[in-house]
Amino acid sequence: MTVNSRLQKLRGSLAGKEIDAILISQPENRYYLSGFDGSAGFLLISMDKTVLATDFRYIEQATSQAPDYEIVRITNNLDDWFPGLVSNLDIKRLGFEAGDITFDLHHRLRDALNKKRVPVKLVPVDGMVEALRAVKEPTEVELIKKAAAITDAAYEHAGSVIKVGMTEKQVAWEIEKYLRENGSQAVPFEIIVASGPNSALPHAKPSERTIQSGEPVLIDMGARFDGYASDLSRTICAGNPDDTLKKVYHAVLDAQLAAMSIIKEGMTGHQADRSAREVIEQAGYGEAFGHALGHGVGLAAHELPRLGTGSEELLTTGMVFTVEPGIYLPGWGGVRIEDTVIMERGRVKAITKAGKVRYD
Ligand code: ZN
Repeated sequence: MTVNSRLQKLRGSLAGKEIDAILISQPENRYYLSGFDGSAGFLLISMDKTVLATDFRYIEQATSQAPDYEIVRITNNLDDWFPGLVSNLDIKRLGFEAGDITFDLHHRLRDALNKKRVPVKLVPVDGMVEALRAVKEPTEVELIKKAAAITDAAYEHAGSVIKVGMTEKQVAWEIEKYLRENGSQAVPFEIIVASGPNSALPHAKPSERTIQSGEPVLIDMGARFDGYASDLSRTICAGNPDDTLKKVYHAVLDAQLAAMSIIKEGMTGHQADRSAREVIEQAGYGEAFGHALGHGVGLAAHELPRLGTGSEELLTTGMVFTVEPGIYLPGWGGVRIEDTVIMERGRVKAITKAGKVRYD
């Protein structure tokens, strides 16, 4: 872990927003900035102090995982510790993670400060740590590559066991078992196996429906390795695909390959999205591509950057994200093809390497 360089970057962002310190509560951010992977606790980070406040269950773990931090034992009662820690920092403006802190907790934090007459203003902060996390360090990329290799192998395994007459749930379980037995931690999101009309729902849950010959079977899965996720989708067919499936499939594949070759460093998320969407629009399916082209992958399976309409985020070296166009036709089915990729030397390079069929 390179906690120190991450803290340095964060302090640069704080200074830019005229915030003296930040309260970190979001679990992945807490881990990213400290190395502590327990499920509860807060980080308080000022320009010169780093405090990890957690309850008695985690004191020992926090001490060994977060050596850069002063560990403070806390209780559920904010009055007991929050105002005291904040006044020790000698600050005026304290940022909090607006996307994570509940309305209720915000009130309790503010009331605790008021009660003890600590004159510190709570300032909402949005996506500050997430923006740092979007650009991966080489060690993080290695972990994502390991997670991707496990998904690639699981996909190959799925291809060898999938048969007409199996239920979606059976296939999903085959995949999950394989992922876990081959090095994945608990999977980062529920595996999607959606057949026939079910595949028209981009986030379908595996059901008892049996797979029929000639229809699309959409598989979306990820592994997690040492905290880091991968994300892979393929659409396959047991038996021979009909003409609609061939046409829709090739429109999606063309769009995905176009995006992979067009996306380059310095583009916005919006421009990247357009590179695939234009191909699908030209094929006559623009209305049927109802989600964004992609999202960042890392400690969370969905994180920054966002590759979608209106996204002004710039795609830069070291970002890891998905490229996943899809076409969904209600009543018939859907096709999605997704790779996890990295921005490297100005261009996009696939990290997931599972094969893609062509129907000629
Ligand atoms: Zn995805």
